[in-house]
Amino acid sequence: MAQRSCPKCTGPVEEGFILDVAQRGYLQATWLQGSPEPSFWTSLTLKGKTRRPIVTLRCSRCGYLESYAQDALPARTLAWRPLLIAGFIFLIASLLAVALLVQRAPR
Ligand SMILES: [Zn+2]
Repeated sequence: MAQRSCPKCTGPVEEGFILDVAQRGYLQATWLQGSPEPSFWTSLTLKGKTRRPIVTLRCSRCGYLESYAQDALPARTLAWRPLLIAGFIFLIASLLAVALLVQRAPR
């Protein structure tokens, strides 16, 4: 991003990003096309939505923030989360079934 000056006070600006905190760690804030749509498995559905990482410029003099949605991100594996959850549940159920069969086996 080209060097810019603050639109409020013409002071120097520095590039950064807004932090999102998620269950699995820290993320860069992301702009999504359209309005939020609830999802049972992932809280919000991202399917079919263009996603762009947000880069934010901060004025070193007055602190004014100006954000830009950068180039679109490639499709992420978040769409696979429901399958991963289902696979994990299937694995746990299989282990419990094997444990029950071993416990009931004649000795
Ligand atoms: Zn400023």
